[in-house]
Amino acid sequence: MTILLATLNARYSHASLGLRYLLANMGDLQQATQLHEFVLGTKPAEVVERVLAYRPRIVGFGIYIWNVEETERIVALLKRVAPEVVVVLGGPEISHETAERHITQLADYVITGWGDITFASLCRQILDGPKPLMKIHAGAQPPLSEIKLPYALYTDADIAHRTLYVEASRGCPFKCEFCLSSLDKTAWPFELDAFLAEMEALHARGARLFKFVDRTFNLNIKTSLKIMQFFLDKLAAAPEDPVYAHFELVPDHLPDALKDAIVQFPPGTLQFEIGIQSFNPEVQTLVSRRQDDEKAAANIRWLASHSHAHLHVDLIAGLPGEDLDSFARGFDKLVALGPHEIQFGILKRLRGTPIIRHTDAYKMVFDPYPPYSILANDRIDFATMQRLVRFSRYWDMVANSGRFANTLPLILADAPFANFMQLSDWLYEKTDATHRIALERLVALIAEWLAARGMDAVMVEATLDSDYAGQMSKRHLRMKAQAAGKADAAVQRQARHQAA
Ligand code: SF4
Repeated sequence: MTILLATLNARYSHASLGLRYLLANMGDLQQATQLHEFVLGTKPAEVVERVLAYRPRIVGFGIYIWNVEETERIVALLKRVAPEVVVVLGGPEISHETAERHITQLADYVITGWGDITFASLCRQILDGPKPLMKIHAGAQPPLSEIKLPYALYTDADIAHRTLYVEASRGCPFKCEFCLSSLDKTAWPFELDAFLAEMEALHARGARLFKFVDRTFNLNIKTSLKIMQFFLDKLAAAPEDPVYAHFELVPDHLPDALKDAIVQFPPGTLQFEIGIQSFNPEVQTLVSRRQDDEKAAANIRWLASHSHAHLHVDLIAGLPGEDLDSFARGFDKLVALGPHEIQFGILKRLRGTPIIRHTDAYKMVFDPYPPYSILANDRIDFATMQRLVRFSRYWDMVANSGRFANTLPLILADAPFANFMQLSDWLYEKTDATHRIALERLVALIAEWLAARGMDAVMVEATLDSDYAGQMSKRHLRMKAQAAGKADAAVQRQARHQAA
């Protein structure tokens, strides 16, 4: 084996689409190329050992924001024990500010931007000569019709156990300055019939969960409709064996034709991720985000009330020009629209994104280490930003988890942001933790917090009992009591034997 493609995925369930593109486009080198995905948290020495077991001449690592630090350690180790192995890096996290990165110094070559075609040609040069002179290679960006689709490379095990990422288009025409896709010149569509033929083949092999990574699925409504019809046909043909599709939408573009298709999806078959990021028009202008807030709000409200789609809407805290009050107003507005989940993100300074142009004017301070989260700006100090980070974690635990669906309205009442912030501060004071809080403890803490706010304890308990969290907590407590009872009985029995 000559070439190994490797990456560290955040979870086993995430299958790397990027590496499969590289493998699909290796041409005559494909037979000599293998792919091995690791999971974040694997010991670097173990990764290196497994990499070297392939006896590769070239190893290509996919570098992302979540794995750059661990991959740096892996590359450092690999080059110490096997300096003859040629290391090639690629991926979004190494495509910008490339030369000044330590991992770049450790590697032999780096491909920036698209690697689909360039990785194979760089490998050919490395293997056949002449040796490439430059360390950093700008990836070629061919027409999408020249890139081989990678979907046949999803194995049966991938199909059975992992999320399948697919893309009907690449790039984004918008210019939101915090986003890496703002560097794209436009969005490029893959040839639709060829793409749908691949989806058909995946479906025939048993794939049921399709996660579209297109940045703006509803940009070209004709294409969106064809893709939706593909899934509707599958649902109609086998309602007992449904497909599940996930798309990212721009919120202010939902023509009637698309709505007509959306309403046909039964519950549990459709998920939308929708970026709002901020409802403050001044902030939107500052970060070059074009958004019609009224249309966006009306569309989210429509989706929440007229469709069965699961709605996951993104907000970002820490954007330049946004203070806590403005963020709180946006948050409350979004809660009122009724999405199922609010992804409360903290601004990150992704390498290469133009957001840095505001650094001085808005005194933006970012963590120098991945994921480069904002620590403070001129309107939100470090301590407050930390409170927001905790808010986000508790929000995931309590609201996004769906475990407190009936209790959540009691918590949020008529001031969602302010009330949840109070709960968040109080939870942190009580637990000193933002993770590994046992569910029954969380249930008890929420009951205590609501009671302390003067709510009727019986009503609170009944509401919590009606939630998944309350039911699981009670079940767990019952099981603990039963186990303790059994343990007591065993101790008593032993005592009786010893006494006899
Ligand atoms: S945030 Fe969304 S709309 Fe804006 S540039 Fe990124 S992908 Fe495009």
